[in-house]
Amino acid sequence: MTADTPHVEFIDIDKTFDGETLVVAGLNLEVRHGEFLTLLGPSGSGKTTCLMMLAGFEDPTAGEIRLCRQPLTKVPPHRRNIGLVFQNYALFPHMTVRQNLAFPLEVRGVPRAERQRRIARILDMVQLGAFADRRPAELSGGQQQRVAVARALVFDPQLVLMDEPLGALDKQLRERMQLEIKHIHDTVGLTFVYVTHDQTEALTMSDRIAVFDDGRIQQVDRPDVLYDRPATSFVANFIGENNRLEARITGGDAVVCAAELADGRSVLATPVCADPASGQATLSIRPERVSLAPLAGEAINRVPARVLERLYFGDHERLRLALGGTTDFVVKVPFGVHAQELGADQEIDVYWRAADCRALDPVGR
Ligand code: ADP
Ligand code: MG
Repeated sequence: MTADTPHVEFIDIDKTFDGETLVVAGLNLEVRHGEFLTLLGPSGSGKTTCLMMLAGFEDPTAGEIRLCRQPLTKVPPHRRNIGLVFQNYALFPHMTVRQNLAFPLEVRGVPRAERQRRIARILDMVQLGAFADRRPAELSGGQQQRVAVARALVFDPQLVLMDEPLGALDKQLRERMQLEIKHIHDTVGLTFVYVTHDQTEALTMSDRIAVFDDGRIQQVDRPDVLYDRPATSFVANFIGENNRLEARITGGDAVVCAAELADGRSVLATPVCADPASGQATLSIRPERVSLAPLAGEAINRVPARVLERLYFGDHERLRLALGGTTDFVVKVPFGVHAQELGADQEIDVYWRAADCRALDPVGR
């Protein structure tokens, strides 16, 4: 087996619970050895169902899941060796931390001395050595979740699955645990498949992200690629902030195209997936990729706009603009960048690079 062998393969997977609606449809996905792959999507988009099929708790209606090139159905459950963490950590309440961690080792017949060695090592990794003899009720939410992570790792699983494991924690603790789980992943070098509906969490933690919408994968890519080069309007809107402009493609080639905005003005964009028949597209531009144009001089894609609102955010400011037929075009301006005093109703020009403006599938308004 080489490093290039996929660890997990979903091949043409369909899943229906009621025989009618496909909650997962035509899913193809490869998870590489040792990577941190996140399934990201809104609630109800089929993420948990995929994880349950991978864990072997649900069967696909069609298609095949493979583990190291072997059909999952042919791998007996005790040899799947999968560590699981869910939002409701479900530690055994009557057992101490140490006993909770010993349990998965005992059921696998690991001898006593080896059990103690592994428990000590994992407690050290999640920094809970001092809490080994406490029961779950005597721990904070974050500490309980760390025990749950430790319990999923202590028996050296080949695959670790986590389903919204931080959902019950407050924001500050959640952010700290995100980094901790990422560090643990980097330390143990195992394959992690992680589920969340939180795009920030996915961007922070993942090597790659599979974006789900209604049972289908829209795009699988590195976080920076998803953010910079979304393949569809859904991905552009789900990940990060995004300005949308309805437009019609009027010309151009495979690299750059001319797009006519609702007010008749033409701008340059990167063609991605406009509707080929009608030429209709939704242009997608990140708020921080738009610049205020210099008062004089040439700039590509110079577009006149009217300031509707100026919002102070401490480290930056945001302008809400009327532009190209919309009234909710947002520009992020680094603090202190613009020389002119901008106020409501002021007429300004903005511009952006064609590479930062993607002509995606039309979504309407
Ligand atoms: P997510 O984890 O992305 O929120 P789920 O995979 O839990 O989504 O659910 C996807 C769809 O499948 C939802 O419409 C949900 O109601 C449905 N579903 C999930 N589990 C079951 C089940 N055991 N029986 C029937 N429908 C289910
Ligand atoms: Mg879910």
